[in-house]
Amino acid sequence: MANYELLKDIEKYGRENKIPILLDDSLEYITGLLEKIKPHRVLEIGTAIGFSAINFSKYLDEGGRIDTIEIESLRVQQAIENIEKVGVQDKIRVLEGDALDILPYLTEKYDVIFIDASKGKYLEFFEHALRLSPVGGWIIADNVLYKGMVLSDYNKHKQRTAVNKLRSFIDVVMETECLNSELVDIGDGLTISKKIKEWEK
Ligand code: SAH
Ligand code: MG
Repeated sequence: MANYELLKDIEKYGRENKIPILLDDSLEYITGLLEKIKPHRVLEIGTAIGFSAINFSKYLDEGGRIDTIEIESLRVQQAIENIEKVGVQDKIRVLEGDALDILPYLTEKYDVIFIDASKGKYLEFFEHALRLSPVGGWIIADNVLYKGMVLSDYNKHKQRTAVNKLRSFIDVVMETECLNSELVDIGDGLTISKKIKEWEK
């Protein structure tokens, strides 16, 4: 039996150490969706210490699995430790490396793809997500409003490159015809997209 009680400690550790794990509201929103979808395959880009992946693993259908990608080896180790402590190692596989190096090798389709890594690369992650989504699949991206900066006029801060890239990301997501997308202003901002027809590049 999985010991999901330990998620409280993992969350506390993450918040105290300023690891950007999912905010409460966003977690609630996404898991509400997962509860309805009951996904068989989930892909996450950005594992950190495994907090979101372990949470998501509650909502998999029988035999379901999550693949999650993390670039920093210390975090990979912490994630694997946490996954084993909770006892969901048969449900979550952590892939170590830059997602942009790993994604090209993935070929199976994922019912839900969650983008939650470096903001400057969202558009590139998104291209892969489109390829790896079946019709009926979901693509979710976190932190798209980046502390309100994405919707603000003020643009002289040092995050402006990331902010501009997130603006283009949101535009592309909203304009991608094979998707039904919405921008949700909760937490740090989410885009939620459902693939409604085949993607033609
Ligand atoms: N999904 C996690 C939080 C992820 S934080 C949760 O909610 O619990 C973002 C993570 O993405 C960081 O750990 C960072 O190291 C990782 N990351 C950033 N760029 C990446 C890349 N190109 N490939 C894989 N992981 C990346
Ligand atoms: Mg995030």
